[in-house]
Amino acid sequence: MTNAATRLAEVRANIARVCKPARRETAEVTLIAVSKTHDAAAIQPLLDAGQRVFGENRVQEAQAKWPALRESYPDIELHLIGQLQSNKAEEAVALFDVIHSLDRPSLLTALAKAMDKAGRRVPCFVQVNIGDEAQKGGCPISELPAFLEAVRAADVPLAGLMCIPPADTEAAPFFALLAKLAADHGLTGLSMGMSGDYETAVMLGATHVRVGSALFGARG
Ligand SMILES: *Cc1c(COP(=O)(O)O)cnc(C)c1O
Repeated sequence: MTNAATRLAEVRANIARVCKPARRETAEVTLIAVSKTHDAAAIQPLLDAGQRVFGENRVQEAQAKWPALRESYPDIELHLIGQLQSNKAEEAVALFDVIHSLDRPSLLTALAKAMDKAGRRVPCFVQVNIGDEAQKGGCPISELPAFLEAVRAADVPLAGLMCIPPADTEAAPFFALLAKLAADHGLTGLSMGMSGDYETAVMLGATHVRVGSALFGARG
């Protein structure tokens, strides 16, 4: 097996291992292989190993990489995990199957319009600024109830909540808070956990983990 395939098997095994004590089924957890900065040659071993769900953080980079790969693998599922500018909404709706970074009314308006125009509804996670960090994207917790209502009113499919906890602190309390917010609002989807903390996230209810460097190695 190649390195990437070995790492994929390890990450899958780790997810399965923590699902057990958490009394969860591994099928409840979607592993998103975050392939940003990595080219098709680096992605190929994961495709060979059966991985089909991938995440990118830039619309332009994804446009350059994925249409060709999709010709060979039509069942690829592509997730946008990075911040999205409203003027890229149409391109994002055309390319991605799930968007994880819906976080403000102006973007909601742009996405709803783009989905109407394309005749395609793309499920969106609402990103929450879980650590209340000034410079970070995400809907403030205080504005979440009103924003979720607006998403539902706009007929944009709501996949759940997403967060990126503050760097260099214990992530678990933030994952637990996101899970509570989701439960409060009747949402089951939880996009949380990256290479350093996906096992913790799974134990706290993550349905989607976004794992990059643990699969591909460090980004250059
Ligand atoms: C890059 C990125 C990840 C993956 O990070 P790793 O630490 O490499 O696993 C997950 N989520 C988001 C939003 C990212 O930008």
